[in-house]
Amino acid sequence: MTVGMAKGTNAMGHLGWVTVRCRICGTWLDLTGGAGRGKKMVAYACPRCSKTLEAVFCSSCAKKVKYSCPYCGTQLSPVTPLLEA
Ligand SMILES: [Zn+2]
Ligand SMILES: [Zn+2]
Repeated sequence: MTVGMAKGTNAMGHLGWVTVRCRICGTWLDLTGGAGRGKKMVAYACPRCSKTLEAVFCSSCAKKVKYSCPYCGTQLSPVTPLLEA
């Protein structure tokens, strides 16, 4: 319920990390936990490449690459929604 990202960040529309695109299929992933849409997306990110390449993947693509990063081979870790409560 709390909009945790609103404070301290630029509130003028750039959602940044909250909404990302699957690097493989281009699906938009809403990491807020689906506030207002009622749908939770689970995303996976490479801990190494996510900083440089925004290597984030939807759950089905993560499964396709066997949960390892197609760029560097590091195991992907799930990105849990930022707003848990
Ligand atoms: Zn995908
Ligand atoms: Zn990687």
